[in-house]
Amino acid sequence: MPDSDNRSLLVSIHDVGPGFEREVDQLAGLLTDTLGCSRFAMLVVPNHWGHYPIRSGTPFASRLRAWSESGIEMFVHGWYHKDTVEHQGVSGLKARYMTASEGEFLGLPYGEAVRRMEDGQALVEDIIGRRASGFIAPAWLYGAESLEALRESRFDIAEDHMKVWIPQSGKVLARGPVITWASRSPARTASSLAFAAFARRVLHPLQTVRVAVHPGDVTKDSILSCIESTLKCFANSRPVRRYESLLATSRAE
Ligand SMILES: [Zn+2]
Repeated sequence: MPDSDNRSLLVSIHDVGPGFEREVDQLAGLLTDTLGCSRFAMLVVPNHWGHYPIRSGTPFASRLRAWSESGIEMFVHGWYHKDTVEHQGVSGLKARYMTASEGEFLGLPYGEAVRRMEDGQALVEDIIGRRASGFIAPAWLYGAESLEALRESRFDIAEDHMKVWIPQSGKVLARGPVITWASRSPARTASSLAFAAFARRVLHPLQTVRVAVHPGDVTKDSILSCIESTLKCFANSRPVRRYESLLATSRAE
């Protein structure tokens, strides 16, 4: 692969926190072994479901810092992850049927979105001793007021299901669907396996291919082997990069 190859494979582990430490370890091992490096991102949930707070000075905080020092990018991934707002109308349907109420930032009012983004950033940056790489809302779902809060934030990068962008300018850094798996039900698992197989055939023309894995993926061997073959398929034909490389590429344009 020539150095001028701007194509990239970006890989991330979602829902990193003390409640899923064993699963995250397993996924990090799988990614490191398959990719041959630790160029991937972790999406950190500061207090998953209000049950798993991350606190400075704890063993889990030390692990986050060590992962960060090994080169893993750290993103803030909501605060509770869970959607605690009552929705009405279309966004209510979207929240309930698409995410089982994990779309924390879909219905948040502006002030609360600002507070949770700033608190998450302060917590993660205090623990890792460097800037967080960006913000990614749980389930990739943003309401209008959360998007406004994000535009005024200090985060360098955001992403949703279809793109990666710079929050303040809105400049799009990458386009294309993220490849991810669903472990919640047999039907959802089957359709995510089918989508990954389809993606392995048709997504090669994309400049940036994104793969995201979740703690629940480790509960199904079919998903784990599909993750491995999908990573191999794309890593064979393009460099594995960090999200931050998209910023460098965009500045050079
Ligand atoms: Zn998540």
